[in-house]
Amino acid sequence: MIHPERIRCLNSKQRLDGPVIYWMSRDQRVRHNWALLFAEQLSLDSNQPLIVLFNLVTSYPQAALRHYDFMLKNMMQVEKKLQTLNIPFFVRAGNPESELPSFAAEHKAGAVVADFSPLKTSLVWKKKVFGQLSIPVYEVDAHNIVPCWTASRKLEFSARTIRPKINGRLETFLTVFPELQRQQSDNTTLPYPVNWEKLYEKLHINRAVKPVSWIDPGEDAAQKVLEDFIEHRLNDYAEKRNDPNAHAVSDLSPYLHFGQISAQHIALEIQKSRARKESKDVFLEELVIRRELADNYCYYNEHYDSLSGIHPWAKETLNQHRTDKRDYLYTLDEFERASTHDPLWNAAQKELGKKGKMHGYLRMYWAKKILEWTPDPETAFETAIYLNDTYSLDGRDPNGFTGVAWSIGGVHDRPWFERPVFGKIRYMNYNGCVRKFNVAQYINSQGIFST
Ligand SMILES: Cc1cc2nc3c(=O)[nH]c(=O)nc-3n(C[C@H](O)[C@H](O)[C@H](O)COP(=O)(O)OP(=O)(O)OC[C@H]3O[C@@H](n4cnc5c(N)ncnc54)[C@H](O)[C@@H]3O)c2cc1C
Repeated sequence: MIHPERIRCLNSKQRLDGPVIYWMSRDQRVRHNWALLFAEQLSLDSNQPLIVLFNLVTSYPQAALRHYDFMLKNMMQVEKKLQTLNIPFFVRAGNPESELPSFAAEHKAGAVVADFSPLKTSLVWKKKVFGQLSIPVYEVDAHNIVPCWTASRKLEFSARTIRPKINGRLETFLTVFPELQRQQSDNTTLPYPVNWEKLYEKLHINRAVKPVSWIDPGEDAAQKVLEDFIEHRLNDYAEKRNDPNAHAVSDLSPYLHFGQISAQHIALEIQKSRARKESKDVFLEELVIRRELADNYCYYNEHYDSLSGIHPWAKETLNQHRTDKRDYLYTLDEFERASTHDPLWNAAQKELGKKGKMHGYLRMYWAKKILEWTPDPETAFETAIYLNDTYSLDGRDPNGFTGVAWSIGGVHDRPWFERPVFGKIRYMNYNGCVRKFNVAQYINSQGIFST
């Protein structure tokens, strides 16, 4: 039922009697979740209860109220959905390295199942938590369609090199999900409802970056957004996806980032739809190949979060142009306040600040201009990551680290014609955007029209 390559046992401890804990972390959903399904399978095989734990880390680099609110409002729904399945759901606030082991001891757990993330914070948490447990610990890739470690065993060079590897395994892994079963009632006692208000009070976060109202958090909301995209926008995706005025994109990235929807479920729904084949193919290229390539980059490159991770050719060319004169230089504060000389860049930054999402085509332009207008590439990288992660609902994601590394460091790209500041890193300019879409209309839509 669950492909064995999707699961890794991270130690060789003996299975004990006691509940199976699913530590829900990256994949915050009840349906279409291979990690939860595997935990259920373990619990049924051993006739032991299944319980779900969410460890709320009360502060996280760059995560603000906007992100926490989107996450917690979904977790409230997860609690209710699990209740209807008679699966106990607990929240512990604090550091996973102390909370997880004490929770496992308190509940006399027999095994722990975790979902997979390639990011360092998660790898460090897991190492610290699992080192303290004397029960079997499993990791399940519930985020990628082809598990990250199966798709490739090495750092891939580009979409061209990973594409055949992923496509070659899709028949095996792109399968329909079974439904989670309701747990037998004599198996478990449901815990007291979670006190969400109290949890909000415990957060030590930036509350100035406010929640947004254009997108509703949660699995059900994500499903509605997917259906709306398939019905109204998917057909024209191939032609219109690069036009920020057209609203042709899916808006699924916040849900994907928080694991509120499964990429595998989306891919199956896209395949089933009657939209034009070209649009379906282009969309699946982004959702499957580009997204899973980003996980590959972060998993196999420990320097994914800095310029140290980029290719030698890119380092060399950026170094050669390190001292080139910059026509404009801005501080982080000037970038953050969207007060550069460029109305298009400012409009994109304002969209990010207000909406918590920037159109994908503009994201490339936006990051490349940061390279052009900062004193050195390292400052550019840090600035782009900081702004992306602080304001974007889908920030702090492998896609974000990889997107910035692509824009500023040529990752997954090739050398282009040499020019000042950029060297051989691909360049983008305002006139290129004018050729692609109605720039004035976009600027106007952000309420700051000027030329
Ligand atoms: C500088 C920069 C920063 C970025 N930061 C992030 C980020 O923090 N989080 C994030 O999820 N994406 C990021 N991206 C990738 C991409 O821009 C977004 O995934 C996309 O804009 C999300 O909107 P959507 O879901 O409406 O996209 P759609 O066009 O509808 O795409 C559907 C899905 O495909 C995937 N996808 C699309 N484009 C890419 C891409 N270039 N690389 C990898 N996967 C892709 C995403 O999962 C996306 O949700 C960044 C790109 C750049 C250039």
